[in-house]
Amino acid sequence: MTPFLPFALPDIGEEEINEVVDSLRSGWLTTGPKTKRFEEDFAVFAGEGSEAIAVNSATAGLHLALEASGIGAGDEVITTPYTFTATAEVVRYLGADPVFVDIDPATFNIDPAKIEAAITPRTRAIIPVHFAGLSCAMDEILRIARKNGLKVIEDAAHALPTTCKGRLIGSLDSDATVYSFYATKTITTGEGGMIITRNPEVARRCRVMRLHGISRDSFDRYTSTKPAWRYEVVAPGFKYNMTDLAASLGIHQLKKASVFQIKRQAMAACYDDAFRSLPMVLPPKAPLGDMHAWHLYVIRLTDKAPVTRDRFIELMAEKGVGCSVHFIPLHLHPYWRDRYELKPEDFPQSLRAYERAVSLPLYTRMSEADQLTVINAVREILS
Ligand SMILES: *Cc1c(COP(=O)(O)O)cnc(C)c1O
Repeated sequence: MTPFLPFALPDIGEEEINEVVDSLRSGWLTTGPKTKRFEEDFAVFAGEGSEAIAVNSATAGLHLALEASGIGAGDEVITTPYTFTATAEVVRYLGADPVFVDIDPATFNIDPAKIEAAITPRTRAIIPVHFAGLSCAMDEILRIARKNGLKVIEDAAHALPTTCKGRLIGSLDSDATVYSFYATKTITTGEGGMIITRNPEVARRCRVMRLHGISRDSFDRYTSTKPAWRYEVVAPGFKYNMTDLAASLGIHQLKKASVFQIKRQAMAACYDDAFRSLPMVLPPKAPLGDMHAWHLYVIRLTDKAPVTRDRFIELMAEKGVGCSVHFIPLHLHPYWRDRYELKPEDFPQSLRAYERAVSLPLYTRMSEADQLTVINAVREILS
């Protein structure tokens, strides 16, 4: 009996381990020199004019970016139901309401053709989610946002690295882009996130609000020549700062992001070749010349599949392969359903996508043999 192949595993090398040990020995555990270095490296990665603000999760980052963009009680923020609940919950933190717009069934990304119909006098922002690591139609989304005076905060939790018409996600003209370094994401710090913005006011506000609304961060206080004990609280902020232990992982993970992407892309191509004649819709590709981060490899079973989606996942588990489903659309969850009186058919494309979707394991620590195990299991079940 071969051991169970988990759905996801982080890829942590000796460089990360040594960097964490170095921090442990240094005596500086919380936000400090490693976090500063990770932010500087990330700002270089995101390109000209960008500022990077490290936080302890993408959820925190989305919350801060919306707060800094002036979203508040009574406002509406457009997003997709085909996402993780964090994307929409942060809107509720601020007393605002998410307004869901269905997805394009080809990409699982928000359908730009449906956005304008959802805009009301209360709409303030759009949160596009680059599902699985494939860019949303950012040209159209940014055009609609500009025309209607809306902010754009990109949920780039899956999109490192992803490009849109040759430009890296994180370098576009949105108000902020937020990455996740959760344990299963394309690069990880265990828990963590990064806000990228080119708006100095948004950056300043995020920096203050990520640490209790204090006007100087603790690293600055301990290293600057001004008295260390003196600081000012200018707002009721949050406790969202990244630790140096997490940043120690991030510094090395970021360096590997490109190599990881190349490996994930090759693995995705290998799955595509193996599954072409099976009763499933393969995941969409990035347009020619663009990069897909391949955070997820999501297949959709067709009517011709001999088993249901749920049964398929059970049989995969019996064959020793962990699968998942991304996502259970938000409008099917009790909180969102009840609060906004949503019915399953309100977002038919999201519902249909969900009912047939299976995420297969795709991560850099998988060996060729691991991938073959997955391929053989899928073939046995579906042919
Ligand atoms: C993982 C994820 C998040 C939340 O990321 P955290 O770092 O865990 O807070 C947000 N949005 C999407 C689409 C995600 O997949």
